[in-house]
Amino acid sequence: MKGFDNKVVIVTGGGSGIGMATALLFAEHGARVVVADISETNAAACAIQVEARGGKALALGVDVSNDDDCCYMVEETVAHFGRLDVAFNNAGIGGNAALTGDYGFENWKRVIDTNLNGVFLCMTHQLNAMRQNDGGAIINTASIMGVRGTAGNCAYSAAKHGVIGLTKTAAVEYGRYGIRVNAVCPGYIETPMTAVEGVSEKIMQSELSRAAFRRKARPKEVAELVLWLASDKASFVTGSAHLVDGGVTAC
Ligand code: NAD
Repeated sequence: MKGFDNKVVIVTGGGSGIGMATALLFAEHGARVVVADISETNAAACAIQVEARGGKALALGVDVSNDDDCCYMVEETVAHFGRLDVAFNNAGIGGNAALTGDYGFENWKRVIDTNLNGVFLCMTHQLNAMRQNDGGAIINTASIMGVRGTAGNCAYSAAKHGVIGLTKTAAVEYGRYGIRVNAVCPGYIETPMTAVEGVSEKIMQSELSRAAFRRKARPKEVAELVLWLASDKASFVTGSAHLVDGGVTAC
């Protein structure tokens, strides 16, 4: 008996990085996993890895900033697996690095559309599907930049602060239906997102040089927190944002 036997889990951004590590970890714990990503190819590659581990997966090409796609994602999940128990709303982009005055409205809108509107759109459909069950758990990916400002990342930081506000609001609204809603706030993680050059790269290296562990995390170190938050062990945990940052914000 594994912790998530017969549970149905959606992971957005499941084609890479933190999302892929989390999809694989859920599968190892018995869950049936819907891997949703704007890259259908990468979603399918992750689903193949899930099935290679003996799990069951459904790969979907989904743009989380598109309401029709988010509706389709949840409807396909219920049609294929019969229910929805857990959602990890994790798809995101880094955006460009520039001072706020130079950021540009188009760049701002692109980041807000994916990182904040995307979480909102996914949640609207997921919450309604979970109300058909006896509850569920939603975990949203925020960031250390959702709890403080960082130079050069205005849109990203605003979006991630927004994700935490959205998380708390939904937790308050849906607790009565047995649905818990939490956020994870990763620090610097070894994924394609942190392999970019720019102002943020300098800040990251400077912060890592002072942090408790002086290294980036492996994606699986975030996935372990997500699994705990999704599990019955976190039965009284809702409406909170959980740092997994190796002490970056402690100094
Ligand atoms: P990643 O680039 O490896 O993965 C992000 C995934 O999201 C990709 O597969 C990408 O195709 C997908 N995606 C992007 N836009 C999408 C859209 N509109 N619809 C559906 N899928 C889309 O990056 P990651 O580091 O694994 O990031 C995952 C999440 O973690 C993001 O929300 C990111 O902001 C957050 N985060 C990352 C770090 C880090 O250091 N890597 C730190 C804090 C928070």
